[in-house]
Amino acid sequence: MAERSIYRTFALADQRTSALELPPHSTTPVGTPTPGGQLVDTRGRNLRDLRISVTDRCNFRCSYCMPKEVFNQDYPYLPHAALLSFEEITRLAQQFVQLGVQKIRLTGGEPLLRKNLEALIAQLAAMRTLQGEPLDLTLTTNGSLLARKAKALKAAGLGRVTVSLDGLSDAVFRRMNDVDFPVADVLAGLDAAHAAGLGPIKVNMVVKRGTNDHEILPMARHFRGSGMVLRFIEYMDVGTSNGWRLDDVMPSRDVIALIQRDMPLVPLEPSAPGETAQRWGYADANGAYDPAAGEVGVISSVTQAFCGDCNRARLSTEGQLYLCLFAARGYDLKALLRGSASDADIGNALAAIWSGRSDRYSELRATLASSGTPTPRVEMSYIGG
Ligand code: SAM
Ligand code: SF4
Ligand code: SF4
Repeated sequence: MAERSIYRTFALADQRTSALELPPHSTTPVGTPTPGGQLVDTRGRNLRDLRISVTDRCNFRCSYCMPKEVFNQDYPYLPHAALLSFEEITRLAQQFVQLGVQKIRLTGGEPLLRKNLEALIAQLAAMRTLQGEPLDLTLTTNGSLLARKAKALKAAGLGRVTVSLDGLSDAVFRRMNDVDFPVADVLAGLDAAHAAGLGPIKVNMVVKRGTNDHEILPMARHFRGSGMVLRFIEYMDVGTSNGWRLDDVMPSRDVIALIQRDMPLVPLEPSAPGETAQRWGYADANGAYDPAAGEVGVISSVTQAFCGDCNRARLSTEGQLYLCLFAARGYDLKALLRGSASDADIGNALAAIWSGRSDRYSELRATLASSGTPTPRVEMSYIGG
């Protein structure tokens, strides 16, 4: 309980307001990628994946992300004028793609709450990577509005969706979203996404020990052979308002061991460089991978840091660029967009920022924790997952 109050007090210091200093304007491109798109940071990591938060609001109050006591009617959500417009997001995204980004994920808050999101999706879907390919364009959602919106999202050019779902039991799910939202509506959203062709669909389950770990097996059984990939995420110390404790984390190896006892699994190779999830395939009677049964994934951000391959940049709802999920501050790109910077100036600034990146929070977590001082961190609902 004492630990919880430290975090709560700390959350009052708003990490959104103080931005990092932008690199000086330069006409000489810094860290420009080679024709192969190989812009690298100080640890040799490419920039491949851009996550864009389109709103800091949500209709759920998952306790691990937006606990009700903090995200109540007094919480200072961003005013509409502070949000990047779709044109501003597209202009920035274009510069990111010029630097080698191949995948864009829309997130939030709950991205489907942003009005007319289809218009942004259509603008992003028209872009091509440095290799001339369409972007891998995806969206992470709590699924509550998916049944209504799946068809229109697909028609606008969205490639696929990831849906968060923390259990199959209606009682457990209602408790976890903390707004009494029924699980049946999310399952209907998944069906609608599947029918609209927004696949391959991934389903993300955050596992909190003692809260929903008894839902691991029912979830695994439900999604086995469904064509959807269920992924178990270790509960993370993201932000400072969720009262995170290491004891609440169920290590991925325990999740895999639990499923193995019921349904044998075999390890699979990563499907893409920098993939966050370790993949496990369901085995057939001979112990070989059975593609018809499919796979599960585990994202072990706490027990097995994957910073060495981290190729992701995050753009907040108001245009701050974060280089790590656990960063305290971002770079104010909105100031560039709304100032006199040309597209080339913006591209140079992004390249300079990425070239100087050295973040590796998860690798340093234990050391930082042993120092006893909580580090300031931005909230997940502000920069998205
Ligand atoms: N509202 C959307 C949703 O829930 O899918 C998108 C935004 S949400 C911040 C993105 C992802 O972050 C979700 O899959 C959510 O479960 C995950 N997430 C949020 N807080 C987390 C935490 N403390 N640890 C691990 N995952 C978390
Ligand atoms: Fe909302 Fe997603 Fe956070 Fe849950 S995890 S509170 S659905 S933003
Ligand atoms: Fe990337 Fe930061 Fe996560 Fe490491 S802790 S994998 S650098 S986002």
